[in-house]
Amino acid sequence: MLGTLLIVSGPSGSGKTTLCRRAEKDGLTCYSISCTTRQPRPGEQDGVDYHFLTQEDFAAKVAAGEFLEHATVHGNSYGTLKSDIIDLLQAGRNVVMDIDVQGAASIRRCEDAIIRRAYADVYIHVPSAELEARLRGRQTDAEEVIQLRLRNAAEEDARQGEYQYALVSADRESDYTRFTALLRTLGMRTSLS
Ligand code: 5GP
Repeated sequence: MLGTLLIVSGPSGSGKTTLCRRAEKDGLTCYSISCTTRQPRPGEQDGVDYHFLTQEDFAAKVAAGEFLEHATVHGNSYGTLKSDIIDLLQAGRNVVMDIDVQGAASIRRCEDAIIRRAYADVYIHVPSAELEARLRGRQTDAEEVIQLRLRNAAEEDARQGEYQYALVSADRESDYTRFTALLRTLGMRTSLS
């Protein structure tokens, strides 16, 4: 029995990372740690939040074909290493990937049979006024970064229809209840057996 590969996208501030991390903590899934060239935020740890790479190291992994997908998001490179994901799925473990709309689109085009059978995706949608309030409340990003993220959110929302599922964000607990219900339901797909 294969595990489920659940791609989770949504704008910064949608709470998608929190949902994925909490499901991991509760033993429902593994979290795929991405590589990025962006600088760590205060409190972020290498190998836990991301694998923080230099531009040169990232480019070398692209050249070596080590990424399942990679994309430029908010001016930085992000990518997911292929190796871990397929091994986990074959061992029957669920994997959640917190990636942007471009990354999701490229995994949808992936021809690997395991990825195709295990694949599912969900878009976390947040009404725009609520999203702005959340980004400001976080107090981690500069004003120009917040403005860039709001513009990107509008573009990402326009691609919500590409996803199989949409979760309209309400509050933390309700979001988590629906998210874990989705994970459990996806685990019942006949494509996994
Ligand atoms: P942040 O820098 O705020 O942690 O993430 C910025 C954006 O990059 C988010 O939309 C996040 O989902 C996306 N992201 C994180 N890891 C990956 C990845 O491996 N591939 C892609 N395509 N996007 C990613």
